[in-house]
Amino acid sequence: MHDGRRATLVGSTTKEIQADVAAAAALPAYRGKQIAEWIYRRILPEERGGYNAAFEFMTDLPLAARERLGELFEDRPLILGERHEDRRDGTVKLLARLQNGGHPIECVLLPDARRVSVCLSTQAGCPMACVFCATGTQGLTRNLTSAEIVGQYLLLQANCPRRITHIVFMGMGEPLLNYDQTLKAIHILNAECGVAMRHITLSTVGIVPNIDRLADENLQLTLAVSLHAPNDTLRSELVPVARTYSLAQLLDSCRRYAAATHRRLTFEYVLLREVNDRPSDARELASLIRGMSAAVNIIPYNPTSVAGQFQRPEAGRIANFRKILETAGVTVTQRKERGQQIAAACGQLVTESSHRRPE
Ligand code: SAH
Repeated sequence: MHDGRRATLVGSTTKEIQADVAAAAALPAYRGKQIAEWIYRRILPEERGGYNAAFEFMTDLPLAARERLGELFEDRPLILGERHEDRRDGTVKLLARLQNGGHPIECVLLPDARRVSVCLSTQAGCPMACVFCATGTQGLTRNLTSAEIVGQYLLLQANCPRRITHIVFMGMGEPLLNYDQTLKAIHILNAECGVAMRHITLSTVGIVPNIDRLADENLQLTLAVSLHAPNDTLRSELVPVARTYSLAQLLDSCRRYAAATHRRLTFEYVLLREVNDRPSDARELASLIRGMSAAVNIIPYNPTSVAGQFQRPEAGRIANFRKILETAGVTVTQRKERGQQIAAACGQLVTESSHRRPE
């Protein structure tokens, strides 16, 4: 239990839920299983009460049990705040308040013809202070619990008639600085909610010891590493943690990860006009990662109202950067630009209250 509040069952495994409801309400194991079923797999649409484990909706439990559970457990780890939809591409951004107040967090639904992806946050704010990222200007409020991380998925699923197929941890925060709760959430999203491990991507700025720790877990997770520069000098200017871990150390740990998991890595590279988008940068990047089982994901910079004075390169410059990598034998993907109308694109997540500038 947190801060003297009631515990929530969201963010616990079926086994833990069974143990909790047996201990607290003397319910037999099969009741615990039914509850887990409602929480993780029978998610009600928002208009019918919402994502949460609202006990009153668990109609196959006896009324007395529902009432008792409602007294004992908190049914909503997150409270839905605002909902913004970009009607052009179906992107939905949700703001959610945490039970203990403070900054709201944001999560995003990105449906396309084939997939329904969601982008989840692992921290309220972020301590990494990458110079081009809106969340980075905020600082860290606190780590999210596994309940709050899984709660975002449940909230988004309640807001989407199609089933969520892919999850990326590319929202607010650095997942590898909230290692235990993020891993616990990943386990639940996979084992309880049924999202394939290979369809879950964890994006890190490059916390080397924790990439090593993750390699030891030997999960079929997709690891994305935010590189953004082909040498330490430039990277240190953009990504302050590069002063702690050199590119050589980071790439060694990426190689260990790839060897241990046999998974292809993704290197993310935010393209900033005339900062890291020169042809020489592309050539240096290609030689840096030569021989690695990795793809480069180019993310043209998304303007934010708070983070630095950067610009997105023109289309021709982006295409040229891409071509140099491909000619050097590097596999390249390019991030689709989605949800810009509602400030839901990569690096734009920042809490409302702190990002409004005077007009
Ligand atoms: N802390 C994790 C997750 C961050 S968000 C990490 O650093 O990887 C996911 C990606 O969006 C990261 O690669 C991040 O650098 C990138 N990003 C941040 N701000 C951006 C912006 N304004 N435009 C485009 N991409 C951005």
